[in-house]
Amino acid sequence: MACVVTGGAGFIGSHLVDALVARGEAVRVIDSLRSGSEQNLSAHLSRDRILFRKADLLEDGWQDFLSGAGRVWHLAADPDVRQGALTPESQVRQNILATWRVLEAMRAAGVPEIVFTSTSTVYGDAKVIPTPEDYSPLEPVSVYGATKLSCEALISAYCHSFGMKAWIFRFANIIGKRSNHGVIWDFIRKLSGNPHRLEILGDGRQSKSYLEVSACVDAMLYAADHASGRVNTFNIGSEDWIDVRSIADLVVEEMGLSGVEYIFTGGERGWIGDVPRMQLSVQKLKSLGWKPPLGSRESVRMAIAAMLE
Ligand code: NAD
Repeated sequence: MACVVTGGAGFIGSHLVDALVARGEAVRVIDSLRSGSEQNLSAHLSRDRILFRKADLLEDGWQDFLSGAGRVWHLAADPDVRQGALTPESQVRQNILATWRVLEAMRAAGVPEIVFTSTSTVYGDAKVIPTPEDYSPLEPVSVYGATKLSCEALISAYCHSFGMKAWIFRFANIIGKRSNHGVIWDFIRKLSGNPHRLEILGDGRQSKSYLEVSACVDAMLYAADHASGRVNTFNIGSEDWIDVRSIADLVVEEMGLSGVEYIFTGGERGWIGDVPRMQLSVQKLKSLGWKPPLGSRESVRMAIAAMLE
């Protein structure tokens, strides 16, 4: 059966499409190209290996693409945590409303399975670190985290009300080739403009878990293949963390720079909705048989090299 990937022209989505095509699956991609790019799918588009529909989930004109599909991988979203504090309504629409529209379209077309990309930010300032999936209370501190938690709740309700099945993945920071946002992207962009000074948001001590994108896609496919409950929720990340200052050092080193002056904006949070410390427990996924193949530092190094290339 065909599968549909929303947000398939984006960073993580395009890597997922690569993996699904490699598995021989019939893949249909819906993307508005709001932040994604057809370039990310060019290897498949040029050989007619996937079907692509440029469409906005908030508008009509894509629902027929779900006809006969067995699963929707729903990745389309506004993934920018910082933006949530500036334009909350946009994230409510791009994340909650768009997800509800996908669920309704699935219900109408009889598509039984959804995979959803959620986030560590649903845990807010977690008091248990590494944070397991059953941590509570879930108290997001960002609009982005709140919208993703709302999506999880809607998906759960649709599964229990309408007989669907779901895999919900709460990601740590996912990084790598084709990434178009996040701390590494920000540092490379700033240093390309001015190789002598680097503004670092916060005090540079924010410590978080990072995972290279192909390992993330591998984990999603593994869990979707091996977990078969009604709603299957898993954290995906590495088993350690790295702080922001160390990431800056690695970017400076990989760019071949020296003597860069760091300017810290100060405070333990880089922006409204940021958390000073994040590390997810991946014990549940390990019990299923998947283990992160690399740690945060290695993931960061690989991502910098890929993004510079
Ligand atoms: P991305 O911005 O590269 O990908 C999102 C894609 O969705 C883009 O191609 C964009 O054009 C598309 N899109 C957005 N709104 C749309 C709409 N209304 N209709 C159709 N297409 C639309 O971001 P990403 O980093 O690849 O994130 C993919 C998913 O993973 C998102 O759901 C994000 O919230 C989640 N996530 C990412 C991270 C991370 O570290 N990158 C962490 C946690 C969760």
